[in-house]
Order: sequence, then C-alpha cells, then structure tokens
Amino acid sequence: MKFAAVVNFAPEKGSVELREIERPVIGEDDVLMEVVNIGVCGSDLHQWTASHSWPVNYPVVLGHEFGGYIVALGNRVQGWKEGDRVVSETAAIIDAGNPLSKVGLYNLDPSRKGFGYGVNGAMTKYVKVPARCLHHVPAGLSFEHACLTEPCCVAYSAVVENARIKPGDRVIVIGPGPIGILCAAMARLCGAQVAVTGLAADVQRLSIAEAYGCTTIVGDALQWAQERDGLGADCIIDAAGASSTLKSALQWVRPNGHISKVGWGPQPLNFSLDPLVQKNITLQGSFSHNWPIWERVIALLASGQLSVQPIIGGVWPLEQWHTAFEEMHQGRVVKSILKPA
Ligand SMILES: [Zn+2]
Repeated sequence: MKFAAVVNFAPEKGSVELREIERPVIGEDDVLMEVVNIGVCGSDLHQWTASHSWPVNYPVVLGHEFGGYIVALGNRVQGWKEGDRVVSETAAIIDAGNPLSKVGLYNLDPSRKGFGYGVNGAMTKYVKVPARCLHHVPAGLSFEHACLTEPCCVAYSAVVENARIKPGDRVIVIGPGPIGILCAAMARLCGAQVAVTGLAADVQRLSIAEAYGCTTIVGDALQWAQERDGLGADCIIDAAGASSTLKSALQWVRPNGHISKVGWGPQPLNFSLDPLVQKNITLQGSFSHNWPIWERVIALLASGQLSVQPIIGGVWPLEQWHTAFEEMHQGRVVKSILKPA
C-alpha cells in the first residue's frame, strides 16, 4: 500500500508535488508515527520557491512540525508504547559523539540532518522518528496546536535562551510571519512591552499580533523604539531576514542592546556594520532548539499560558497542500496546517 506525500524533488523553483510513497521501514531505535497534523513552515515555502540557503537531500518529503500517534516501535525502544500521543523534535540524524551533542546542543551539531530537508519529513501518513526525538503530548492538548510546538520552540530559543528578555524590556519584532508573531508572544510571556513591525501588505498578519497584546507598526518603528527614554529598544528580534531589516534593527536598538536574528536571508548585507560597533550591540543568530526547550514549550501550550490558536489560518487536507502553501506564501494566513487523509 502506498501513501500520498508532499515531496520536494529538485532544487528548481516550484519542484514540489504530491507523490505516492511506501510506508517507511523503521530501525531498532525508531518509532513509526501516524501523523495527525503538520504545520507548514516558512522553510517549507523557501524550499518550494527555491529561496533557501541550506542543503536539501532531494527527493525529500517536506514537513518538520508534526504530531501524531505511535503505531510501531523498534525493538530497542523503551519508555514508549503504541497509541502514545507524541510530537517530534527536528534533528532526525545527529552524531551523538559530537562535543555539541554531548553538552545537549545536538541541534547545533554540524552533521545534523533534519526532517523535511535531510531526511523524509511528515507531510504524509507515516513518518519514521528516532525515539530520542519524541515528547509526550498531554491529553488536553490538541494535535492542531501541538504540531506547532516546533515553531514555538524556535521562538523560545530566540527570545528566552538567546535574547534573555526581561520584564519591562521594550522589544521590537520585525516580520509578522509565524516565527515573528510567536517571538512576540513569547516576549509578552517574559513581561516585555512588544511592538511587531511589517510592511503595508502585512496589515492582516499584523492584526494577529494584537491578540497577544502587542502594538503593531507599519514601516518605521523608530518613534516607538525611542518613546521611553529616547535611546531605542532593548531588543530587536529580526524574524524577517532581509538585509534592510537588519539595517533597521541597528537603528532601532539602544546602545548596549541586543539583536537576535532568527530570519534567514541568503543575500549579502550591502551596508556597513559600523553602528554595531559604535553602539556596542550584541548581534546573535538563533537557530533551532533542544530537549529542555521542548518540554517547557509543551508545558506552556498545555497550561494555556501560550496559545497558538490566533496564528492558525486554516487546516487543509494533505491533497490541498498547494492552497495551504499559497495562502501562507501570499500572507493571507500566518500559519497553515495540513492533515493527511
Ligand atoms: Zn519550522
């Protein structure tokens, strides 16, 4: 029996199609997960539009934001059973002997391969998952919400682990995509005053940030940045990634402030980084997440302290992946979710 899968088959733009694939064969340390819901990520769209800057193992099934049920277990897997409700981390292949893995930063192991680009992802009925990637989904947490644990972890990593936002901080998030809005939501949980900025075309998505108690700004945020004491915002989260947004971030951040760059942009900067030096700014990249972040985010989702409901723009059957991708790509929704038949 074969199952429909959303496959990215070549590096050229638009090289994504629905294909029939076999049910994966699991190894001794893996489980087989029956997928219930998958979030569409900006990186899935980047691979679809060929605007990504990471190596892809073509052909590959897309999708790394997913949750479902364990339906089979490898014979070395312990502590899990058939029927368990789970979500999975994204680092499908790691080198356990790498020094970064040994300190729990396996997400930064250079040999790491993730679902949806390095190994087959979850935009299909069944996915093979190493048991070490799994986390329990509490009974009260729906899969439509739980499948978005991963982007929430990206936000937690950027805002809490890397930017170390404190209560009362003034934070500007650039870009009202899913990661930007979740970063804004996370900064609100940290007790910050938060503005989310975007372009005129982003008004619809910006309005979603208001559900998290954020101010929204179209265009220049300098005035908001300087409102308190004239010096600028404590922290800028660049969730857009274009060169021009980093340039704005350098302008809006206060001296000795912090910029977390979580948005990707393969193009060269084409401007001077001298303001970084002059203002003594910390510029930090933020990538991925690890086990303790996942456990905390699941706790936040399960308790209702963090809700992903405002960002969900719709749930589409897997067969309608193109509509789900297009709605997100056009900015008509913040986050699309897929459901295999
Ligand atoms: Zn993602």
